[in-house]
Amino acid sequence: MQYFSLQNKQHRVNFETAVVQGLAPDRGLYFPETIPTLSKDFIQQLHQYTDQEIGYQVIQSFVGDEIPEEALKKIVADTLHFPFPVQKVSGQSYALELFHGPTLAFKDVGARFMAGCLGYFRRNSKEPVTVLVATSGDTGGAVASGFYNVPGVEVVILYPSRKVSTLQEKQLTTLGGNIRALEIQGTFDDCQQLVKTAFLDKELQARRPLTSANSINVARWLPQMFYYFLAYKQMKAAHPRLVFSVPSGNFGNICAGLMAAATGLPVAHFVAATNINDTVPRFMESGKYEPAKAFATLSNAMDVADPSNFVRVLALFGNSLPALQEKFTAYSFSDKDTIQAMEQVWKEHHYMLDPHGAVGFLGLQQYLETAPELTGVFLETAHPVKFEDTAPETLRENIATPARVMTLYDKEKTATLLQPDYTALKNWLLR
Ligand SMILES: *Cc1c(COP(=O)(O)O)cnc(C)c1O
Repeated sequence: MQYFSLQNKQHRVNFETAVVQGLAPDRGLYFPETIPTLSKDFIQQLHQYTDQEIGYQVIQSFVGDEIPEEALKKIVADTLHFPFPVQKVSGQSYALELFHGPTLAFKDVGARFMAGCLGYFRRNSKEPVTVLVATSGDTGGAVASGFYNVPGVEVVILYPSRKVSTLQEKQLTTLGGNIRALEIQGTFDDCQQLVKTAFLDKELQARRPLTSANSINVARWLPQMFYYFLAYKQMKAAHPRLVFSVPSGNFGNICAGLMAAATGLPVAHFVAATNINDTVPRFMESGKYEPAKAFATLSNAMDVADPSNFVRVLALFGNSLPALQEKFTAYSFSDKDTIQAMEQVWKEHHYMLDPHGAVGFLGLQQYLETAPELTGVFLETAHPVKFEDTAPETLRENIATPARVMTLYDKEKTATLLQPDYTALKNWLLR
């Protein structure tokens, strides 16, 4: 499969180059040249396949022959080695639980898949590559866990100081080994800007080859299509007409859902639910893309003012706003709405939402009012324990801590504090 830069259609690379480069040299995001279609039979028979078989079928044509069948099957199996259950929450609303992986958030899937691909492509090379990544919280832990001990790969994670939760910070600052954490005294957008600048710095790249693991990387973005197929597999017998509501920050996850639909997955509608960082909901109303400054919220993994994947969403619809509006709706919710949803859902349905899932739940409720004939699935993107610090007092004692993260709290944080200043970052990388 060939990928082109969304800044320049003439610039084309294969899957391997897109994965290793992350971003095109002109700063464009890579986008597949053609969108493969899956057979109707496969989709109708989805329930007869294992999750791993589905993952392989879905991703194979996006990879092409650059990773042989056996190796790709192994990467998919290593990626999908935990369950993705759909749970009924209330009425027509179901939660697709994406937090059963090693770091308790959905980003485990993209990070593990990318680590597998990069490990495969680097299998014969001697020079190490540095994965440089900005995180608003969950990416860091997922990337750290996914790439931990992958030979020939060093990982440097930038995160905004005091804007991630205790557990998130522990996940990205306690592994050691090939993982380093930089605590940036700024916002996530500052971190993302620093990373983008580093990728354009030829002198730095010559001395320390870099690759990205942000959701802009096609190997992180595309495997997120799996969630939607796995949800449909579980729902289709009783509820074939689905609307997905996706709590969105950088819009990688929902863009993968839209791509899944483009390959043939039957989905009636998509809802992007954001916190007050509402650049996309405003765009859907006005047609004007006007990113403001990012505000800190309870759903901190979505505190993004200028979502990098939105250009891919537009590309999927030929940059036509009316075409997009037919399939896609965006709503924004405040922290007050979020807390209210968490409290209400616990009280009435005994289901514990995390703040991101709560935003997704709210988006779903709002859309279902206009489309009562549909069944809704919202993506519960993180385990509530990841955001225990900021959960309402009344809920905190009811949040269960999975055994596999208990030990993290006792581990010592190791991170380097840096100003959001590119020279400081560069000096540190070349130290
Ligand atoms: C990253 C993240 C999101 C936002 O996903 P995007 O693909 O960036 O839109 C939502 N919820 C959680 C818990 C996340 O970690």
